[in-house]
Amino acid sequence: MKTFKSTCCYCGVGCGVVVTKEGNGQLSLEGDKEHPSNKGMLCSKGMNLHYTVMDQSDRLLYPQMRLNRSMPMQRVSWDDALERTAAVFKTLIKKFGPDSVAFYVSGQCLTEEYYLVNKLIKGFIGSNNIDTNSRLCMSSAVVGYKLALGDDSVPVCYDDIEAADVIYVTGANPAWCHPIIWRRVEAHKAANHDVKIICVDPRKTDTSRSSDLHLQIAPGTDIVLNNAIGRILIEQNYIDQTFIAEHTDGFADFREKVMQRTIAEAAELCGINAGDIYTAAGWIGRSKGFLSFWTMGLNQSVIGVNKNLSLINLHLITGRIGKPGNGPFSLTGQPNAMGGRETGGLANILPGHREILNAEHRAEMEQFWNTPVKIANKPGLTATEMFEALADDKLKAIWIINTNPLVSMPDMNVAEAALNKSRFVVVQDVSNRADTVKFADVVLPAAAWLEKEGTMTNAERRITHLPKAIDAPGEALPDAEIIWRFAAKMGFGDAFNYKNTSEVYDEYTSCTAGTSIDVTGVNYQLLKTNRSIQWPQTKSQNNNTNTPTTGTKRLFTDHQFHTKNKKAQIHAVPDENTSEPTTEDYPLVLTNGRIRDQWHTMTKTGRVAKLNQHTPQPFLQLHPEDAKNRNIKEGQLAVIQSRRGEVRVKVNITEDVRPGLCFLPMHWGKILGSNLARANNLTNNLVDPKSKEPDFKFSAVQVSLYKKP
Ligand code: SF4
Repeated sequence: MKTFKSTCCYCGVGCGVVVTKEGNGQLSLEGDKEHPSNKGMLCSKGMNLHYTVMDQSDRLLYPQMRLNRSMPMQRVSWDDALERTAAVFKTLIKKFGPDSVAFYVSGQCLTEEYYLVNKLIKGFIGSNNIDTNSRLCMSSAVVGYKLALGDDSVPVCYDDIEAADVIYVTGANPAWCHPIIWRRVEAHKAANHDVKIICVDPRKTDTSRSSDLHLQIAPGTDIVLNNAIGRILIEQNYIDQTFIAEHTDGFADFREKVMQRTIAEAAELCGINAGDIYTAAGWIGRSKGFLSFWTMGLNQSVIGVNKNLSLINLHLITGRIGKPGNGPFSLTGQPNAMGGRETGGLANILPGHREILNAEHRAEMEQFWNTPVKIANKPGLTATEMFEALADDKLKAIWIINTNPLVSMPDMNVAEAALNKSRFVVVQDVSNRADTVKFADVVLPAAAWLEKEGTMTNAERRITHLPKAIDAPGEALPDAEIIWRFAAKMGFGDAFNYKNTSEVYDEYTSCTAGTSIDVTGVNYQLLKTNRSIQWPQTKSQNNNTNTPTTGTKRLFTDHQFHTKNKKAQIHAVPDENTSEPTTEDYPLVLTNGRIRDQWHTMTKTGRVAKLNQHTPQPFLQLHPEDAKNRNIKEGQLAVIQSRRGEVRVKVNITEDVRPGLCFLPMHWGKILGSNLARANNLTNNLVDPKSKEPDFKFSAVQVSLYKKP
């Protein structure tokens, strides 16, 4: 019997787990009581995580390839698969240039994997065409933080929950999607009855039901609400004049902007009582600790960046940042979305939060990597741009790592056309459940969680080490090894000559020296000893020794922000939503999200029988008035139609959604045996202009009773 300490690889809470490997090879798992993020607690997904690696029935075991898509896949050796891929990449690059190829990766990739793919394409192939599925969930928060605070730096930590007395949850349902955070919030509330929880969500959820105040706003009116709260904070003198004067810019414009709408107008637009806005503002204004949480309800919007800014503004005008219990806290949906941001895993950034558009930053990385080419001076294609470019034959080849874009991209028509038209598709994944596998020319079997070593960073900047505990089945390899083997086939072997991921991690950490996320004081040995460290953690912080350290809990405690003049920027943002309009033909707004026991496109959770029991089938939540108008009864099959396609699911009639709003879970794809449950048959390709994050939460649809043809 042997035990291993690892980290849950579902959501960005990053709970510590202890895995026990029995003599007979069976695994058991429990929460790590010593891990500061979860203190032994696990949610239903985390408790059943080990089943995802014990069931190997659908695992990809061997490299496979085919010479054209009418042929069946053939098992081949690793050398053959990687040599063919390298040959195709070299041919395309020679003929069409480096921007003819792209990597599309995932927030499930480990930090070392993210770093290697970035180094390969940006430093050696000479294109910035790498983006991640995290573009679809948190890029609006990245841009929001950068514009307001000067850097993509989450200023807070989970311990701020217990130090807060007002917790403002907006566009998020942590009771289901980040359950361990929510348990900490509920325990704090139970122990301190004065703590107030405000939930902003167009739907009633388990989060809103355990809140003191639910602001059930109309979809797309988040900025109207935040600006109205800002106005009341100003009018009732709850703002921090000294903090505003000494540490911010932009207050005068913000003041002018928020005064343009009365609270009565704002309440009408939001579809809530003006009194409730006053209540929320009063609680925030009188609080000593004001902590806000948000996820996709703000981020996945055509105005996602401005929604983020409107929330961060509330912290800046009250000075509620950089102090225990205070600050804007963007939760991450994937386990290593943060690690991806740190290593440059977006088309517009480089490792260490460097920027592609910054010539000095490019030069630093060219020198650090000793690149044979100049790093391209323009950002690469973002997630949605990649698939549009594939469909237009502007992009010729894509390498997809651990993500399932056929179900997760915003418009299935574009994603499917892209994969059909693309000249060359490599899919590197753990199992054949991903719908995207069937479009591949080359399939590369990847090692899963527990089968490879590396690091991840959770939502509170906490880096943990994940050990290899079991062997991968068949010939599956760790993703990092696949990349460095491929780099050698491309002729870059000297720069990718690693023996293990520890060497990759050390190289990554040294390139962060002097940056805002300096982690030169972190290494595998220290992470194994200390369990976890919050960045930044410089070499001088641990005095270049492996003495115990926990890193940096909070940022901006000195109120010196990462902008040029060290002041945070308050932004006066417009409050109009620019999503696709509802019309007579498409009169309802469709929103989507997670259910409690599933995660993403179900390629992992769908393999666990216990998790499938909670909600075995997709469903549509529809308000009783909207159901009555359409003569639809509970449990009947309905057709949801948008300008792009349709979905057929059973209807759940409920007042949990506002009239005019309906809700469809995001998880289901072809693996259920039908394309007709996919939410992305309906969602649209509009993106926020600054973050390029899709408008998943707002699509105009019609719903009608299904009639057999
Ligand atoms: Fe895993 Fe997230 Fe659940 Fe924690 S809260 S056990 S990280 S899914």
